[in-house]
Amino acid sequence: MRYKFLFLITGIALAVSCNSPQKDYQFTTSDIESHIDTLSSDYFLGRMPFTEGEEKTVAYLVNEFQKIGLEPGNGDSYIQEVPMVSILTQPSETMEIQSAKEKISLNGLQDYVFWTQRTDSAVSFQDAEMVFAGFGIVAPEYGWDDYKNIDVKDKIVVVLVNDPGFGTEDASFFKGNTMTYYGRWTYKYEEAIRQGALGCLIVHNTIPAGYGFNVIQNSWNSSKLYLDDRGKEGYKLAFEGWVTLPTANRLFEMAGLNERELLAKARKPDFQAIPLNLKASSSLKVEATYNTSQNVVAKLTGEQNPDEYIVYTAHWDHLGVGKPDASGDSIYNGALDNASGTAALLALAKAFKESKTPNRSVIFLAVTAEEQGLWGSAYYAQNPIYPLEKTVANINMDGINPYGKMKDVSVIGVGQSEMEELLDVELEKLGRYSAPEPNPVAGYYFRSDHFNFAKVGVPALYFHTGIDHVEKGKEYGKELQDQYTAEYYHKPSDEYDSSRWNLDGAVDDVQLLYNIGQNLANSNQWPAWKPGSEFKSIREGYMKK
Ligand SMILES: [Zn+2]
Repeated sequence: MRYKFLFLITGIALAVSCNSPQKDYQFTTSDIESHIDTLSSDYFLGRMPFTEGEEKTVAYLVNEFQKIGLEPGNGDSYIQEVPMVSILTQPSETMEIQSAKEKISLNGLQDYVFWTQRTDSAVSFQDAEMVFAGFGIVAPEYGWDDYKNIDVKDKIVVVLVNDPGFGTEDASFFKGNTMTYYGRWTYKYEEAIRQGALGCLIVHNTIPAGYGFNVIQNSWNSSKLYLDDRGKEGYKLAFEGWVTLPTANRLFEMAGLNERELLAKARKPDFQAIPLNLKASSSLKVEATYNTSQNVVAKLTGEQNPDEYIVYTAHWDHLGVGKPDASGDSIYNGALDNASGTAALLALAKAFKESKTPNRSVIFLAVTAEEQGLWGSAYYAQNPIYPLEKTVANINMDGINPYGKMKDVSVIGVGQSEMEELLDVELEKLGRYSAPEPNPVAGYYFRSDHFNFAKVGVPALYFHTGIDHVEKGKEYGKELQDQYTAEYYHKPSDEYDSSRWNLDGAVDDVQLLYNIGQNLANSNQWPAWKPGSEFKSIREGYMKK
């Protein structure tokens, strides 16, 4: 077995070095294996922000970047501090709803879940008017505005999950079943904030949401992490939350409406928000705790265009020590998620340092607090060390292939940017190919750190391991992935085990990530967003000279 794989790797090495002399680095499993093994060991305590696990992880990363010989990426420091606040919302048990005819009481947790980003010690609202605002979307590129001709200031907006394209089987209407950012729950709250609403309730529905109400119930009465924006805070909703579909139907009925008709209306571009003539009252208590975590950043200065940047990212954090599993293990090691991507980041840093210095600068950014809301990358994107208009692209890694060699990679968010073409060119040279992600409905594009770069307009590339196993085919590859999701994902069992892991495919993927970055770092190319991308106008806004 081993000999055969070694032979394959050597074969690829020859092919690549003949084609493009600049790619003088050939990865092997030893570039990544020990980093995965180390970072996912119990010593790092599951790499939870604000804990001893963070201190150990950050120290390890800084030490490795120093050993490699990279410069500090933030002035004379390898650290970018990320101030955060943990907000514990204790909601009152009920929400009262008053119509012209009757008054009902909804039960928290069972009928709805809500929380707040406000840090005041208590938040309450009395007889706040409720408005049905369709999908709660303002999307200029689709000529769409659910908030036209209505003022929702101081009102509670009730909106549908996902976007109007979902379930229409029409790929040209929004993106059909592929979720646009307008379909994500985070977007709904962001837009409600821009509209000055008092609160926002999303109507839950398992299929378009991609997960059950139980997932949302887990956030009841628990703390959530946010960036600490004291001193520059903007408007925040009094509360954000979800209602179950049966509860929403009850409210619509009280208003003399029904969900089916509302959905049909909400799918039309001439949709007009509908006041429900219902008034809601409830309150919540808040406890805010402030704490600082750390992004780790290293830099390789380019030779000809040092003020243009390629940024590689991987989140170093995971879930720490928590609820024990059946075997009594309580350390969430996060070997795949994301000791593996962090290991790849270190391997890439070493490879770039040992290769001919590229024309553009290359930044290696290990971000914190991905698991609790992509906060480390959000902080970087809002406080970029390197100007966004000089940042050529982001290449993100969140989990690398542990299953052995694959013919394909699975591109998250197909059709977004020209980074995909750069990927395809390099894949083809290696005799491999790209495939769209198997489950675009889940909106994975919005669920890792590259998304925060996209949100500020920087073209971002993110792919998962493929499923087309070189020796055993697609079904086998799919089976391994499903097994990972069921047995290891976000569980204490996500550990490194050399008998279970086969890093030969990871080596291929890291080589690919390297080749793409090298090409870009040695070109004058500025990959753009594709027409129809929700991020195109953001980029063009600040790139216009
Ligand atoms: Zn992850």
